Amino acid sequence: MAERRALFLDRDGTVNIDRHYVHRIEDFEPVPGIFELCAAAAAKGYALVVVTNQSGIERGYFTMEQYEALTAHMRCLFAQHGAPLLDVLCCPFLNHPDRKPNPGMFLKAAGKWGIDLAASVSLGDKPRDVAAGAAAGVGANYLLDAEATACPGAAGIVATPAQLIPLLP
Ligand SMILES: [Mg+2]
Repeated sequence: MAERRALFLDRDGTVNIDRHYVHRIEDFEPVPGIFELCAAAAAKGYALVVVTNQSGIERGYFTMEQYEALTAHMRCLFAQHGAPLLDVLCCPFLNHPDRKPNPGMFLKAAGKWGIDLAASVSLGDKPRDVAAGAAAGVGANYLLDAEATACPGAAGIVATPAQLIPLLP
């Protein structure tokens, strides 16, 4: 099977509004433009992969079962918008090679799904998302932040997810 390219997405603050340790469906509000971006990326042949730090699990704020129920809801939303997710990886730990800014989740997804990281793109709302993608060898790592003027290692900064659409190779 030929290698595929992926659009890696952070979750909180990128897919959904960051309300700090979101774990209930009623608190899961999509970021405006995220489905528009993902449907456009899917149409261009990008596999969609969410990579999310969820230390609230180790901290005891919510359980893996609650996380998984919310993930199922999120997958349904993406599918309904013509942008089904290939995979959702999470790191529930505070100190772990999978926790961003470490590259573990990107590398796992690449190995599992045959993803060409250099041909892939990432979007996250924190410099640690950019750092993790860069450490994994993702070709272009974008920061989603309407206020930021610079981010070391970022290919660029966008104010909304939809602004990434014309930047996708
Ligand atoms: Mg985030």
